[in-house]
This record gives sequence, structure tokens and C-alpha cells, in this order.
Amino acid sequence: MKEVILNCPSGHGEMKIKRKLNHIKFRGVDISYTVDCYVCQTCSLEAGTLGQTAETQKAIADAYRKKVGLLTSTELVDYRKKHKLTQEDLANRMNVGIASIKRWEGSIIQSRSMDKMLRFTLSGGICGDPCAGNRPFSIPRIKIVMKQLEMELKRKVLKKGDKMLFASKYAWYIDMVAFRETGQSMTGATYAALPYGPQLNNYKELVDEIIGADENEAERLTDEEKRIIRKVAVKFPRSQHVYDAAHRELIWKEKTKGAMIPYTDASRLTEI
Ligand SMILES: [Zn+2]
Repeated sequence: MKEVILNCPSGHGEMKIKRKLNHIKFRGVDISYTVDCYVCQTCSLEAGTLGQTAETQKAIADAYRKKVGLLTSTELVDYRKKHKLTQEDLANRMNVGIASIKRWEGSIIQSRSMDKMLRFTLSGGICGDPCAGNRPFSIPRIKIVMKQLEMELKRKVLKKGDKMLFASKYAWYIDMVAFRETGQSMTGATYAALPYGPQLNNYKELVDEIIGADENEAERLTDEEKRIIRKVAVKFPRSQHVYDAAHRELIWKEKTKGAMIPYTDASRLTEI
């Protein structure tokens, strides 16, 4: 920020810039934030500038984000740069406008579901496209894939509060087979090799996000994709089938705990 000389209106001369700690209640949360402000050394008069107003807004937004566990603007910029993504790359991967990325990297607070999307996209970026299957990650798409699967199985797979122990295996097979047969996953999800099998990244709070997602935001399933979902449903009619099969897959067994399973391993699936 360009420094501007500000003189005390009482004629005490040039005011000095000081870091100041403020405490406020914002959206019902007590937060503290620091800002630079001009202070007169003689009469202690405090004043700000236009630039500082924007800075204050961002400081408040970031203090709040930190307090409630959302990515701060600085973290977002840092993670994005760490993964060598431009704002446009990130926007494309998330299917949002670049203006949204700019706002979140500034003083506009992202929603919790968008925060999750950001984390997902940025964590998928660690191992690049092989882990996302050449498709932007989409929670609404997981929803329509799972609904199609439920229709084929004639039973519910996704339940509120579910840890997705079985649903994840179905999603994994569907995504992997889709990649193997079409060169593209269906959901863009990344999967980790966890002790109980391949699991969707950040699965713990995911199920409620999926259930609450707007299906209209998802790209429709193609006939080819519906055929793949049917194939998985026919092969694994019961949840125990898909669970046991996933545990026999070498591409899961050979991974160290928590490692990503890249889609390029799909050619080595043995159970389907
Ligand atoms: Zn003064």
C-alpha cells in the first residue's frame, strides 16, 4: 500500500502509522484483528485512509474465517500458488467464475460448502489430473451418480450422517471404470487408500453436502455413463460385495495408508 502523509488537523504535524488490535463481534463470533492506522503522537487522534478501509474489511473477514475454520484469503492464495494454479485454473476446476475466486481471495467470505470445494480442488491439485480423472470435482455430480446407482440397485446407498463406507466403494468403482472406458472420471473426486478401503477425500462431512447439493448444477449423465453405473450395480448388487471386492484390489493394497489412488491405476482393476 502506498503510504500517504497525514497531518494532525490540530496542527501537531505528521501522524505516525501504528498497528492496532481491535476486538469486535462479527456474525455472532468474537474476533480480534490488527490494522494499521494513523495516530497523532501528541493528541492520540486516530485516523485511517481509503486503502486502510479495504484492508480492515479483509482483516475482519480473515479473522472470522480463521476463527470458524474457513480458509483465509492468504491461505487460499498460498495454496493456489503452491499448486501452480492461476485464478482462472482454479475457477475452471471448480466450475465457478473467476470473479468468485477473486472475491474469496479478498474480503468476501466463502460459504462452507464452497470452502470444502476449494479444499478438495486444491488437495486434488497435489497429485494433478491423474487423481481427479480429467474432470473438475463436482459434489452435485456425485449426487446424480449415486441417485442413478440407487435406481439400479433399487435401494438407498446414501444416508444422512453416513460415513460412506459402502457408498465410497461404489463411487470409486464407478469413477475408475468410467476412467478406464472413457478416459474421464464421472465425479472428479479423488480417492485415498484408507484402512477400510478406497475412500473419497474429506468424506467425513461429505454425505450431507451431497444430499443437500443442487442436481441442476450437475452435468447430465450420458448413456455411456449410465451403462457403466448399471454394470457396477449388476456386478456388486450388495454393499458387502463392493466392499469385499475393493479390499481385493492390488491398486488399493499396495498403497501406503492415506496415499491417493490415481485414475491411471484403473487399468489394473481385477474385480470388474
Ligand atoms: Zn494531534
